[in-house]
Formats: sequence, C-alpha cells, structure tokens
Amino acid sequence: MRLKNEIENEIENEIENEIEKEIENEIENEIENEIEQLPVEEEIELKGLLSGQSTDEALVETRKSIFFKILKIFMILILIAILADSIFILVTFPKNSTTRFYNNGTHDFYPTVILLSIDGFRDDYLYRNITSYMTNFYQDGLQSEYLIPSFPSVTFPNHYTIVTGLYPESHGIVGNTFYDPDLKDYFYYTNLSHSLDTKWWGGEPIWVTAEKQNQKTGVSQWVGSSAVIKGITPTYYYHYDSKLDMNEQVSRVMNWLDLPLNERPTFIAAYDPKVDSIGHKKGPDSKELNEVLEATDNLIRDLLNGLSQRNLTDIVNFIIVSDHGMAPTNSSSIIYLDGIFNISKVFPLEGYPMAGVRPYNDSEVTDIYTKLKDASLNQPWECYLRADEIPKRFHFRNSKRIAPIYCIPETGRILTSHRDSNGTKPPLGTHGYDNLEPLMRGIFLANGPAFKEVESRIKTNVIEGFHNVEIYNIITTILRLKPAENNGTSGGILWN
Ligand SMILES: [Zn+2]
Repeated sequence: MRLKNEIENEIENEIENEIEKEIENEIENEIENEIEQLPVEEEIELKGLLSGQSTDEALVETRKSIFFKILKIFMILILIAILADSIFILVTFPKNSTTRFYNNGTHDFYPTVILLSIDGFRDDYLYRNITSYMTNFYQDGLQSEYLIPSFPSVTFPNHYTIVTGLYPESHGIVGNTFYDPDLKDYFYYTNLSHSLDTKWWGGEPIWVTAEKQNQKTGVSQWVGSSAVIKGITPTYYYHYDSKLDMNEQVSRVMNWLDLPLNERPTFIAAYDPKVDSIGHKKGPDSKELNEVLEATDNLIRDLLNGLSQRNLTDIVNFIIVSDHGMAPTNSSSIIYLDGIFNISKVFPLEGYPMAGVRPYNDSEVTDIYTKLKDASLNQPWECYLRADEIPKRFHFRNSKRIAPIYCIPETGRILTSHRDSNGTKPPLGTHGYDNLEPLMRGIFLANGPAFKEVESRIKTNVIEGFHNVEIYNIITTILRLKPAENNGTSGGILWN
C-alpha cells in the first residue's frame, strides 16, 4: 500500500514537473518570437518613411501592431493558465485518487460514498426471501459474510465506531447510557440536546476527517452527526427524527447528489431505525419484522433507482451496514440482582441488558464485586472487574465511563434490578451481548466502482466477516483521505 502511494506520488510529481516545464518553455518561446519580430516592426517603420508615408501614420501602424502582439501574448498566457489550472485540479484533487474524476455523461464526480445504516438488521434477515433488491445489490457487488459489532453490541457505541474506526473505550461512547465520573454527568441517548454536547464525543468521525481535508459531507442522520466535534459539523446535516419518512431520506440523498461539483458532498450518510425498533417490540422472528424488512428493501430500491436515473450506479460507492443483530427475549429472560447486594449503594445500572455496577462510594467496589462473583457461580452470567478482568477481546477496559464492575449475561438473558426495571415488561428482542455471538451479527453490503475493483482482484464477491472498526479506513481509502488514528487496518482491510 505504502509502495503504491509512493509510486502514485512520484507519477504525480513527474506529471506536475513536466507540465511546469512545458508551460515555461512555451512562454519562453513566445517571448523569444516576439523579441525576434521586433526588428521587423522597425523595418516597417523604416519602410514607411522611405515609401513616403508620414511619420505619424507609420507610428500609429507600429503602435497598433505592438498592441495586438501584446494582446496575443496576454491571451496565450490566459489560455495557458486555464489549461494548467485544470490539469492541476485533475492531478491534485482529490489528492492521490486512483480515478480522479468520474463523469456520468453530464457531470463530473469525485469519488463518492453513500453509507446507509439499517439499525438492528441481523445478517440472516437477508435470507428470508423478502429483500430481493438487497440481494441483487450485493450479488452484483460485494458482501461480507457478516459484520461483527464492537462490544457492547448496542446502537450508540457501534454507530460511532463505524464512523471513527475506534473501539468504544477509545471514542468514549461506551453505551447508550453511561456515567462519566470526571464530568459528573450522565449520557442519555434519548436526551438529544444533552447528548449532543461536544464533551461526550471523542475520536474523529469520517465527516470531520473529510471536512478537514476540504471535502464536503452530508449526513441525513447518524449518531453524533449534529454534535460539534473538533469544532466541525458536516456541511449539510439534519437533526435526528425518529419518525423520519423513508421517502424524505431518499430525497435528501438525491438532492445532495444533484448539487454542483464543488458543493456536492463526497461522503453521504443516512440511517433508518425501523428494523431495530420492531425487532425489540415484536421479536426477530415476528411477521411484523418481516413486513418492515420489505419496507426497508423498498428504501434500498428507491435509493438504487435514484442512482440509476442519474447514471451513477458505476460512479457512486454505496455501502449498507447494520450496527448489531437481535436475540429473542421474554419475561423469563430477566435476572434480578437486588437480593445479592444493597442496590441503593450503586448508581442506576448501566449497559442494559448487561449490568454495569458503579457504587456511589469507591470503597464499596470490592465488597459488591465479591458478592456478585459468588452469586454468579454456575449461573448464566459472569461478573468482572473493569480494569483487569473484562476479556481483552472486548476492548472494554480503558475508560472511566465503563462501570468498575461489569456483569455480562448469556445471550437472551437480561440483568436488571426491580429498582431499575421499575415494573416495565422486557422486550421481545434484545441486543448488547458478546459481540462474537452469531445473533449479534450485522451486515456489510457494498456496490460501486471501488468494490467492483476489489471484487475483480480477489475474484469473489463474498468476503469473510470482519469487525466494524474496519469501515472507517475503507471509506477514507475510497475518498483518498488521510485517516485519523484508529483501530482498523491501515490502508483499508479490502486492500490488504
Ligand atoms: Zn442499534
């Protein structure tokens, strides 16, 4: 990859040098020609005198002639400048792009990525014979067997991981709700005005990376997209609206694609919550969920039609992902922790359906942990001390926003207390379990020129499942952006 970049840079430098030399030569030649022609002008002046023309007439003639010569040089210089400028743009913007410009017949396009997330779309939903447009999409493009969420397998941490390439412990959104002991404040995903405060958001989302490198971005809605991060928001964005109509979402994306080249976003993101929400309410195997799958497939159809009507199918790279899967749950899933220790000594439990236990007083940690550890013996759940016991593969230790004791249930169980559940019935579908659990798997489907290239190189359109920290570098590679520090494979996993 490094070698490839070096070669590309070398070629670019050589082209730039060659163009510069050529322009210099041309200007030099032109000036030389003009200088050579000067004696001829004098000759005309002389001839004028000899042929009996008045000196004044001859002088006017000479001045006219010089004026036109200067005008000619001036125009040639302008032409050269215009030509050089277009070549410069072609060579340098976006910097080191494999294909620098695409053209759909009427307009130029920079490499462009649309990223659509369908919340809670489990990988096996694709095989229910409901989503034919999605099937055509990935069969014609590229599909990973599944997408592995980051731990914990819940919405906020994973959406922010997808756009930063960082594990939740590194970007700081460690749950849908959590407490920050330094800020002495709670993050509640449902309290939008509060959760959009800059103080919560670490790392660098892809739209910030792109904006910093002079590319425009448009985000219909995404976790964190209306927050000011590193002083930056997307060029175009809308605030989250849980009732957002799918047609409206399609219009937003298409309107951005219809903008003139220098106003058009190269990165566009959209998000749809319905599959997740019905998965919780009715369960992953319900007929209601299948109905929403059909509606979701129609959303994909409309987006693909929009691209096709604009002749952009082979120009725009379109990635469809989900943040996690869904496990069936019911009232027998619940395990109450109240009887094990004094629940009034701890903050509200964090990390549902897990139990992040944060005693009000640090000196209580060992005592409460020991009680939980003893109680969990031979039970379908396990407790860990955050700092040195949580399995390393979860990458879930290095943040004070993670409660000092974390209890993780088997898939399909829910840890809570009577105080915390407050009499609410458990949902029929839940996620948030071990991220390697098959029921937690999401999807990665992609089509467009960058993926066609990968497909023809690796000679298959199905790749092994990978972790969602890889998506950030896949996008920065396509958009030819210098990525911020992240946990994904350098250069993008598809090109390694
Ligand atoms: Zn989700």
